[in-house]
Amino acid sequence: MTDTVIEVRNPATGEQVGTVPLTSPDAVADAVRALREHQPAWEALGPQGRKHWLLKLQDWLIDNTEALADTLQSESAKPRVDALIDPAFAVDLTGYYARRAASFLADDHPSPHSPLARVKKLTVAYRPYPVVGVITPWNFPLAMPVIDVIPALAAGAAVILKPSEVTPLSAVHLARGWAEIGAPPVFTVVTGAGETGAAVVEQADYIQFTGSTATGRRIAERCAQRLVPYSLELGGKDPAIVLADADLDRAAHGIAFGGMFNAGQVCISVERVYVEAPVYDEFVTKLTDAVAALRLGRDGQVAAHDVGALANENQAAIVQRHVDEAVAAGARVTTGGKRTGEGTFFEPTVLVDVDHSMSCIREETFGPTLPVMKVADAEEAIALANDSIYGLSASVWTGDKAAGERVARRLNAGAVNINDVFANLFSFAMPMGGWGQSGIGARWGGAAGLRKYCRPQAITKPMVPTMTKEVLWFPYDMSKVTFSLGAMRAAGARGLRRIDVPSLLRLRRNATGQSTS
Ligand code: ADP
Repeated sequence: MTDTVIEVRNPATGEQVGTVPLTSPDAVADAVRALREHQPAWEALGPQGRKHWLLKLQDWLIDNTEALADTLQSESAKPRVDALIDPAFAVDLTGYYARRAASFLADDHPSPHSPLARVKKLTVAYRPYPVVGVITPWNFPLAMPVIDVIPALAAGAAVILKPSEVTPLSAVHLARGWAEIGAPPVFTVVTGAGETGAAVVEQADYIQFTGSTATGRRIAERCAQRLVPYSLELGGKDPAIVLADADLDRAAHGIAFGGMFNAGQVCISVERVYVEAPVYDEFVTKLTDAVAALRLGRDGQVAAHDVGALANENQAAIVQRHVDEAVAAGARVTTGGKRTGEGTFFEPTVLVDVDHSMSCIREETFGPTLPVMKVADAEEAIALANDSIYGLSASVWTGDKAAGERVARRLNAGAVNINDVFANLFSFAMPMGGWGQSGIGARWGGAAGLRKYCRPQAITKPMVPTMTKEVLWFPYDMSKVTFSLGAMRAAGARGLRRIDVPSLLRLRRNATGQSTS
């Protein structure tokens, strides 16, 4: 990296695959100023007008899928299949929010809380924050930006995106697509590292961040000082609970996928497994077989591998430390356990004889390891699963789906999938958010996914002819005031307290000129 340019490298080979500018804080401020100029026209287009551009982008995503996958692979060394998932996911999400935005953003007309309020027509309008700042990590270089950029654009906001400095090329490719379709200039990508991200936090009106808990906390502190809202999706240490009545083959294959997809570099990847004692040995054998069968290596345009390289040396070092510390404390590796070949490849790894004192169980690994613990029963599994600072998502594997749901409702996690992994990630109608140190707020959740980028505006409008003065306006008239306050009390209170006897007496005394003492 020089002062002005970031060199992007393929982690499998170390080869330089591109460069992007290191955007200065001043340039970020200029970019946000330009977005502010164009945002009102974008908002004025309304959801139907914006749908036109979002569906054009969707067409572009489909037509450019192979090229996008090439870019993505160049900077991440993902297997071809993984690289193809990002554009497909982007197409699905863009269609959903483009088509539903009009109904999700429609004005609300809540029914008045009291008969007295029926003289007004009540309207809640959803008005976007002018500029939304989206800051993303490196694990899904296209899908992570799209996940939040599209809903914010659909809501009528302009968006400034700061992708990870490790994988900025896919985001730049996406911005090229937005320009190519001729869409209004309300989406800008600024490349750079933490300083550029911090400049976005300094300028935008809403911050949507995905990344580490440490950076999320710093962003939250700055947003609190600026009094701008934010939503954070942070780390995770997702547990999987395997009950004795589970389909062990499905559980083993599902957990192998959940733990090893994208080499475990997924915020919602399975990071620890609790298995009921009667099926523990059988499950460990099946999981070890499933993980040992995974093909580790570098794909070209032909899909030949299941698991690719880790994003960088830093990640490889964390994974190795977690494995080494566990083994030093008595854990056993049933498959994998070490780096292999050139680049940052780490063998898909299963660890047994682990416990809650170990870093592989307590800290986010974000790599291809599956530590497995034997538990006496579901109670112990629930207690251990909840013994974490994180609460992003979890899975429960069982032959009794009702029992699985009962376990789910006792887990401290923003999402629980029964007999599956990641299923909630493909359900945009549901909120995706972390509990505890896994985040604040949520993305998606149907209408909520757009309304979060909006400020609700309450508008009242008279429904009956208006008088020169309302009853409560100046100058105060005690009899009128008593009447209207009494009406409020009658509408809101219960039983005899509906009738304000002291006020009525005071009113009578005032009317007859008696002292009130
Ligand atoms: P990871 O290493 O998992 O990507 P980080 O939290 O370090 O997690 O980075 C996530 C994103 O946050 C990246 O785009 C990074 O450049 C950005 N970032 C890092 N530090 C800051 C900061 N102080 N303010 C805003 N964004 C930041």
